[in-house]
Amino acid sequence: TEEALRQAQKMEAVGQLTGGIAHDFNNLLTGIIGSLDLMQRRHRRGDGQDVERYINSAVTSAQRAAALTQRLLAFSRRQTLDLKPVDVNRLVASLEDLLHRTTGENITLVTDLSAGLQPACMDVNQLESALINLVINARDAMPNGGRITVATRRYTKSGAPDPERRGLNEGDYILLSVTDTGSGMTPEVVERAFEPFFTTKPIGQGTGLGLSMVYGYIKQAKGYVQIDSEPGRGTCVSLFLPVHHGDVSSVTDERDQTPRGTG
Ligand code: ADP
Repeated sequence: TEEALRQAQKMEAVGQLTGGIAHDFNNLLTGIIGSLDLMQRRHRRGDGQDVERYINSAVTSAQRAAALTQRLLAFSRRQTLDLKPVDVNRLVASLEDLLHRTTGENITLVTDLSAGLQPACMDVNQLESALINLVINARDAMPNGGRITVATRRYTKSGAPDPERRGLNEGDYILLSVTDTGSGMTPEVVERAFEPFFTTKPIGQGTGLGLSMVYGYIKQAKGYVQIDSEPGRGTCVSLFLPVHHGDVSSVTDERDQTPRGTG
């Protein structure tokens, strides 16, 4: 759907926006540290010259930095969570054309959809955006082509490693996985992959926000994400999506109800 593509483009824009804000924020911090450092040197010498000017400069930079983070917070608060029953197979099918266009000629994209799945309890826009991100990552990991498999399964204990640790009940999750035959990740990269701004891609190509957003979306829906990867062999990212039980109407993002201190 074109809406999904717009969503992906929006995510890209959000990535650039946040990346830009982080960059500006860092510049402001550098300025503040510089002013404080100069003040400290003067202070040690018992020299009061220009101290007033350094203080003013530090305060102004700090205020601008605070304004920047306020803007970012306002932006993230505006997004509301809309948890509803989602037919995951239908969602994958509806995105297939778009995903083919995204991956291009030298990548084979196949779907392997399990019949008779229960609906997942998800925000459909977030799930679309998560899937597109995973497929884009898979594509990026295969510059010389390869194969991407988008699969759905009912969760069974044997299908997920270490289920006890996470306290999952059999049948409680729908699995949506994206498997590629690409470069894979080292354990160190897997470890950091969900960190915001962590990227191994060249500057300008990766924002390092894709997987952290995927993680955030799935976590908000009370699911979880698992990465299985081996360098040189490929990667499988699995989304464990809670099954929709009973009536869940539109739910407001819990972040909206969380009181926020201003520091
Ligand atoms: P970005 O794609 O902008 O770098 P992500 O948060 O989506 O940001 O991914 C973070 C990092 O995780 C990537 O830079 C890459 O090193 C690694 N990664 C993610 N998906 C894959 C994949 N399918 N294959 C190999 N590495 C991946």
